[in-house]
Amino acid sequence: MRVDIVSIFPEYFAPLELSLIGRARNSGTLRLAVHDLRGWTHDVHRTVDDTPYGGGPGMVMRPEPWGAALDALAPADLTPPRLLVPSPTGVPFSQALAHELAAEPHLLFACGRYEGIDQRVLDHAATRMPVTEVSLGDYVLFGGEVAVLVIMEAVTRLLPGVLGNASSLDEESHAHGLLEAPMYTKPATWRGLDVPEVLRSGDHGRIARWRRDEALTRTAARRPDMLAALDPAGLDKRDVET
Ligand code: SAM
Repeated sequence: MRVDIVSIFPEYFAPLELSLIGRARNSGTLRLAVHDLRGWTHDVHRTVDDTPYGGGPGMVMRPEPWGAALDALAPADLTPPRLLVPSPTGVPFSQALAHELAAEPHLLFACGRYEGIDQRVLDHAATRMPVTEVSLGDYVLFGGEVAVLVIMEAVTRLLPGVLGNASSLDEESHAHGLLEAPMYTKPATWRGLDVPEVLRSGDHGRIARWRRDEALTRTAARRPDMLAALDPAGLDKRDVET
């Protein structure tokens, strides 16, 4: 997968050299480049913002540097990337969207700052590439950089070969509409608290049932919206009793 990120703070992306994302880059699974938007400015102050039309507080990112950046990174004669624009007005980011993005050959992220990017940049881009505004949640950040870090973590771990044990992806929270059951490791007793007996029983059938029950109970308590969205056809009799 190829990923281009445009930002006025390229330094924000240093963590993308670490851990499993760094390894995915070293192995060639992920070809990632970070670009400084100011490289597409032409004035001495390298200006990227101006006051909003219609008045109001704050500044808006000017269209010219963004237009030049998108022209350079998505040339008209090549297959266009999917443009992702972090925004609190976007569609909520989810594991389902992470899977969708992991199947794309080329992602291009445009990180807004201030009051966001001039709308014409997105409208013009949409005439030649798919554009998705993505929200991390119902709150407002300073800029899109942290959102891109989050999205890149979620997407990269879905790329083939990135996780040592790919079955983790099938058993974790949000894989099948449930939250994961609690996890434990050694020692069996810590500060007077025991690991549930069933997990030490070696009985794989009982363990699977216990984990399923815990996942259902936890999801019902913490995310009733997820429980309500479960397909009843995927539930067995014991699930319903739980
Ligand atoms: N004026 C905008 C509004 O009210 O919708 C908020 C702009 S915010 C201060 C600056 C930038 O941070 C946005 O352009 C976006 O890139 C990023 N951002 C802020 N909150 C976000 C969120 N919840 N999800 C994704 N990106 C966000």
